[in-house]
Amino acid sequence: MKKLIFVTGGVCSSLGKGITASSIGALMESRGLSVRMVKIDPYLNVDAGTMSPYQHGEVYVTDDGAETDLDLGNYGRYTNSPLSKVNSITTGQVYQSVINKEREGRFLGRTVQVIPHITDEIKSRILAPGKEDDVDITIVEIGGTVGDMESIPFLEAARQLIHEMGKQNAVSVHVTLIPAVSGGELKTKPTQHAVKELQEVGIQPDALVLRSGEPIEEGMRRKIAGFTNVEFEGVVSAHDVKTTIYEIPLVFHEQGLDTFLLKKMNVESRHADLRPWQDVVRKFAEPKHRVRIGVVGKYMELHDAYKSVWEALYHGGIANQAAVEIVKIDSGRLEADNADMAQIFADIDGILVPGGYGQRGSGGMVKAARYAREQGLPYFGICLGLQIMVIEWARDILEWADADSTEFNPDSPHAVVSLLEDQIDVKSYGGTQRLGKSESILKDGTLIRKIYGGESVWERHRHRYEVSNAYRADLERTGLGIAALTPDGSLVEAIEWPDHPWGLGVQFHPEFKSRPISPAPLFKGFIGACVAHNAGGARAAHASD
Ligand code: GLN
Repeated sequence: MKKLIFVTGGVCSSLGKGITASSIGALMESRGLSVRMVKIDPYLNVDAGTMSPYQHGEVYVTDDGAETDLDLGNYGRYTNSPLSKVNSITTGQVYQSVINKEREGRFLGRTVQVIPHITDEIKSRILAPGKEDDVDITIVEIGGTVGDMESIPFLEAARQLIHEMGKQNAVSVHVTLIPAVSGGELKTKPTQHAVKELQEVGIQPDALVLRSGEPIEEGMRRKIAGFTNVEFEGVVSAHDVKTTIYEIPLVFHEQGLDTFLLKKMNVESRHADLRPWQDVVRKFAEPKHRVRIGVVGKYMELHDAYKSVWEALYHGGIANQAAVEIVKIDSGRLEADNADMAQIFADIDGILVPGGYGQRGSGGMVKAARYAREQGLPYFGICLGLQIMVIEWARDILEWADADSTEFNPDSPHAVVSLLEDQIDVKSYGGTQRLGKSESILKDGTLIRKIYGGESVWERHRHRYEVSNAYRADLERTGLGIAALTPDGSLVEAIEWPDHPWGLGVQFHPEFKSRPISPAPLFKGFIGACVAHNAGGARAAHASD
């Protein structure tokens, strides 16, 4: 049995197609089915690696080092689908491979065209991740909005697959918006048009997921079913939830969406076991503690730039039964000489410095790290956040005021963070960083080893610069803990402050593997330390309510 579920969107973007696809995936898995997730991005970039976080939000990194759309992060948080470069399809990849084949002479004599050559390439890429024997269902999210020019070849490929495989093997779920006009009245017209637009490209949706602020009443759902040719059971209200986005699988299940889709596809399965999701929602809704985390970074205006970090912090909160409030602090703000650190961090229980690129704002991050180190405030440095710890230590403890990363000051006389030899002459920006999963060996007696509970760990990387080995001895001699290394000992993977309650930096990105059901150990540990820091403080959950 191999089934396909296509998830498309109408009316406008940002409706939550990713969460819809992920939640359907979670529901299928809760019934014991094996799921694969695929994201289609209709842009011409080959991958998301070179895109600014301002344009496109976070770049999500998979085990095999693919730099992908942040929706893959959602898939990873909701499902067990393995994620690698085959789970992310872009127009750029599709055209690149068809054009390469043309140059190799593989279409000799024929005219190479969008239909069938591009659509055939798309179809084979859609089917590839689900090829293994044990896979039951592949869920394919088509990015963009139906009606966009860019997505036409992908919708045509979806139409062909539904036609070839038969409606009982490939179904369509369309996500639309039910807006409220002044006075609060809900309007169905945009959905009516959005469905028509999908029908025009030859796809009849089997289910409609209706985004709205308020639950959509049965009467309105019946009316929508009537004018879209969708069965009433397939018309589902996806209203805003008060707790957490991890409640969406439960919202869909209560309305029978999983049962309906499985019936359509003729799939038998066990009853859904949704206890892990219910547990997540309950812990989220009934916190015993509250913590405020100051995240000091560069791309703070854009919420999606650190999507996986935010989610991992919430997961750490779930693991500690703590409500996590994130306070975004633009590192540039801390750079002014008169920035009052004690006041800025007055109500903060822990500081996190996430990944980032470029010199701007790095001085403010160094100041934040110094404040945390000196005040005994929990500090978690991720990638750039670790490099900042090293720079801060070298400037203050080793008294090298000019210590820096060559990324920020290529001429620093004390380049404590620098490029590896093999990165120095790299001319191309696409896919040339240290990317994907690799092993770190955790030293005995360190905090990080205690947190992971083992001597080795595999996490994902995305960076170009490293702690300079030339200065490793100086750092260690003055007490900075080098807590983890690559298996050959050549690269620093984790740094710890001595005599500090929780001051830890990692060169990798633990946020990419965090799930609400199994929070990343480092985020669990960090939030735990923040709870302890706050313990008995004015913000204990009940004192502040
Ligand atoms: N800019 C730093 C580097 O390239 C850190 C990267 C990151 O934080 N992801 O090494």
